[in-house]
Amino acid sequence: MAAVTAVVFPLLPSAPARDVVQTVVTATCLVIAWRHLLAQPGLVAQGWGTLVAAVTILGLSDAVAAAELHLLHIDYFPRASNVLALFGYALLGVGVVQFERHRSRGRPMPGRTEAAIFAVGASVPLLVFLILPVLAADSFSWASKTTTVGYAVADLAVMTAITRLLLAGGRQAPSFLFFSGALFVSLLGDFWSGITTTQGPSSALAPVRMLWLAAFVLFAAGIAHPSLRSLSDGSVWKGSWISSKRRLWLMGIGQALPALTLAICWALGGTPYGVVIAVLGLLVSGLVTTRVVGLMDRVSEQSVQLAALARSDELTGLPNRRAWNHELSRACALARDHAEHLCIALLDLDHFKRYNDTYGHPAGDQLLREAAQVWSAALTGDEVLARYGGEEFAVILPRTGLVDAVLVLDRLREVTPGRQTFSAGVAEWSHGSDPAVAIAQADASLYLAKRSGRDQVVAAEEHDGVMPAPLLALRPVVQPIVSAEDLCVVAYEALSRFPHTTDVPSVFAQAHEQGYGDLLEATALQRALDLVDRPSGVELFVNVSERAMRSPRFWEAMPEDMTGLVVELHEDRDGLDDVTVGGYLDRFRSRGARIGLDDLGVRATDLARIVSLRPDIAKIDRSLVAGCDAAPGQAEVVRMLVDFARSHGVQVCVEGVETPGELAAVRAAGTTYVQGYLTGRPGPGWVGPASVAALLARSR
Ligand code: GH3
Ligand code: MG
Ligand code: MG
Repeated sequence: MAAVTAVVFPLLPSAPARDVVQTVVTATCLVIAWRHLLAQPGLVAQGWGTLVAAVTILGLSDAVAAAELHLLHIDYFPRASNVLALFGYALLGVGVVQFERHRSRGRPMPGRTEAAIFAVGASVPLLVFLILPVLAADSFSWASKTTTVGYAVADLAVMTAITRLLLAGGRQAPSFLFFSGALFVSLLGDFWSGITTTQGPSSALAPVRMLWLAAFVLFAAGIAHPSLRSLSDGSVWKGSWISSKRRLWLMGIGQALPALTLAICWALGGTPYGVVIAVLGLLVSGLVTTRVVGLMDRVSEQSVQLAALARSDELTGLPNRRAWNHELSRACALARDHAEHLCIALLDLDHFKRYNDTYGHPAGDQLLREAAQVWSAALTGDEVLARYGGEEFAVILPRTGLVDAVLVLDRLREVTPGRQTFSAGVAEWSHGSDPAVAIAQADASLYLAKRSGRDQVVAAEEHDGVMPAPLLALRPVVQPIVSAEDLCVVAYEALSRFPHTTDVPSVFAQAHEQGYGDLLEATALQRALDLVDRPSGVELFVNVSERAMRSPRFWEAMPEDMTGLVVELHEDRDGLDDVTVGGYLDRFRSRGARIGLDDLGVRATDLARIVSLRPDIAKIDRSLVAGCDAAPGQAEVVRMLVDFARSHGVQVCVEGVETPGELAAVRAAGTTYVQGYLTGRPGPGWVGPASVAALLARSR
């Protein structure tokens, strides 16, 4: 319809003919708008009733204007059409406000101040160049003055409405586009008419009338479009189209308009209405300042919220681990300054996995929330309880010695919700030491509490003696090793983890330097053997260094029966000759263990050890495996190593397989076993064949 009108309109021979076409098109648009409005009564409350009524009055005013000009030949001001049009504009304003109110129910409406800035800014040139001169002119009657000013104010209102609509945000469906477009096009028509008003009655000009007609068509299209209902749907609220930067630019333009007006006046040879410009200019500046201050307040409010979020745990609302660590440093400083005791405790819910499995994860979450709540209530204001991770919590107990700390923990055990129990480890921070040591001791005590049957509190003092923290804190994890043939889990490698560092090799290196590396290695082996529920029929690979093997203490700690174990001799050499090492390996063999040789391929001399030590299994190092599927030379080396080992009766396990491509390559090379992230990461539990299959399926 818009296209037809656009083509036909300029071709029409006379003004009356255009009037007829205009009236028909306008009437059709209004009929469409009313039909859609009446078919959806809910829209009336959203402001559309007022808007359609306003547009109807504006359409009527056009028809009356045509009659006044061509039938009645009235040329005085104000005509009935002018009064109708002004009333229509006022109603349009009310409708836009109603629509916006409904659209942004309960939300902050960020565009309000910007729209006001723009409106006040734009009112300055309007006042200085149009309204005030018209009011001052003697040649205008009061009626025509009022009408002219009325139109100017109406246009300013439409302009403000458009700014506001675009800034406020909300659903931006096609209906919204049509509606904003209608306002914009009618505004263009008004401007054009204002500029060309000296060339005759504006309503006679084809371009102006086409713009006004287009506004009616766009409005009807907006009402008829099915997306209209969704415009006020808060659930699909979107931020404003206008970015914050453009918003600032818009405010800048609004703020610049008074100064610009002043400059134009000055260029034209005089500065009339200086007071008006100054007052409005100050008002705009005030509004801009208010808005900027508001924005800054919001930013600082958000940064406070963000900081709080970064420090608290979402589920329980307790401080998180990061916040707890921060509090711990403060508490240690206070304890040192006042020479007071300070204890820390780590709590871990017992068999919580089972709780989740039995009652469901949401019930598990609820229990965590309730536990956090009752424990917090049972602690005093300066005792800091935090969620340390998963089902593990940490407490700082200032001014509390070990005995009292255990009492506090026992109190927490009593109030724990449901029949849930927890195990806890407590340690006292000794002044001047790294708090990490106390954490490690608490962690080791927690481990002991778990191993001694759970549902109890263990204090570090009770067992630590002079034992270094890593010995207490060591936790075993296991990584599956699968058969290359059918990818079934045939073994696990036991690895060690420490709660406060990921650099495991350096913990061992440091332990050897400080003279207890042998104990640490023996402990690692012992803890791996202590892991409960090891599946039967699978081997357990454990790591042993030359340095440990030459220590009598180490051998004292070794079990007599090592059947089912594969002792991996790792690359950390201690200058022993192969005969001596072979002797130690035979001791393992005599206890039932098989022998593995770690890190094959790192050094050429390892090949000689295959021959001299005759291990049962050799492990090819990850450095040769990574990307071997894409590097023919590397794959060739892997194949050569496999062939070499096998020709000496040694099985091969390839380590560090991470991708399906690498898996295919090492299987093609003839390896016996495969180990790597692809078939299972190291973890606290025995990963079954099902999860290996799932991992493989996911990686395909
Ligand atoms: P243990 O007595 O040895 O501590 O046994 P456990 O089952 O509590 O320990 P494990 O570390 O094997 O399992 C921890 C469980 O805690 C598994 C995990 O699903 C659960 N868990 C960790 N975080 C959440 C959580 O935010 N919500 C719920 N519902 N469960 C969690
Ligand atoms: Mg637990
Ligand atoms: Mg746990």
